Amino acid sequence: MKVCGKIISRGEKVKVSLSVSKMFNGSTLEIPIVVINGVKEGPTLCVVGGVHGDEYEGPRAIAEIIKELNPKKLRGTFIGVPVLNVLAYRWGSRVTPEDQKNLARVFPGKRDGTITEKIAYTFTQEIILKSDYIIDLHSGGTDYSYMDMLCYFDVPGEVGRKSLELAQMFPISIIFRSFEKPIGRLIDTAISNGIPSVGTECKGEGRYQESSKNIYTSGIKNVMKKLNMIDGTIEELPQKRIFVDLIEIMSEHEGFLKTKLELGQQVTKGTILGTLIDIFDREICRFKAQTNGIILAIKTKPIVKPGDYVFILGKRIQIRKNWQDKQELD
Ligand SMILES: [Zn+2]
Repeated sequence: MKVCGKIISRGEKVKVSLSVSKMFNGSTLEIPIVVINGVKEGPTLCVVGGVHGDEYEGPRAIAEIIKELNPKKLRGTFIGVPVLNVLAYRWGSRVTPEDQKNLARVFPGKRDGTITEKIAYTFTQEIILKSDYIIDLHSGGTDYSYMDMLCYFDVPGEVGRKSLELAQMFPISIIFRSFEKPIGRLIDTAISNGIPSVGTECKGEGRYQESSKNIYTSGIKNVMKKLNMIDGTIEELPQKRIFVDLIEIMSEHEGFLKTKLELGQQVTKGTILGTLIDIFDREICRFKAQTNGIILAIKTKPIVKPGDYVFILGKRIQIRKNWQDKQELD
């Protein structure tokens, strides 16, 4: 197979570079990627981390899998991209410092766009469209604390059914629903091209957490076992799953967020989730739960700007029974 202009034979583990753009100093902005081409036929699974530069568990999990995987024992191809937004990662930044864009909102990118849009475009053309399955690993980053959770796509047919199947391979109980309408994430582009995909979230809080990295490595290995890419028994899956829709609670104002809520707490409609205050401790506004639900994310960096989401609530849902039917959601 050929990736980023390099021919990779069966049984090889090769580092390649995705060229994005020329720079004024004569060098090229490149994304490092490892392709592990198994000795036997099978699907192509691409696992991506570092779409946001302040999320560290995905990159560490992918590096570990790359080290461990033996192409002689692999069926199919593993494409590992520890850090997709290398520009943001070196600053530990959510957005790309050069153009202040969020890589998870610009997919499928633009050939003649800004640097972030060009990363999305070249990655879509060279990697996403050559993959059979995609896993996109995220976290709460610098500003938020998240419950471990991951998404499946509520789209009819095989793509939806398989994306749920992938999601259920992770040792994570909370699974949230994503819809077909794209919002510029890497997995939106994958799904709209018929590629089953999942996106994951874990704690964040500006830190690297080994326990979340372990959940990710375990999930990736389970997916590979499910797809018959490696041998072994699927492990550590939770007994119960909670399916939810995400409800973001947005701030209309700037201020300092005060809250006593904990992740995982159940709240009822009307519960005061937190208060926004000014620098003299005067109340600006209160945030209320619009529905019964579970607290899935809290803005732990207390400085809030208008348009920031300050909490994410999980509202329980039933998943569709029939993946062929466009309407049925029970
Ligand atoms: Zn992210």
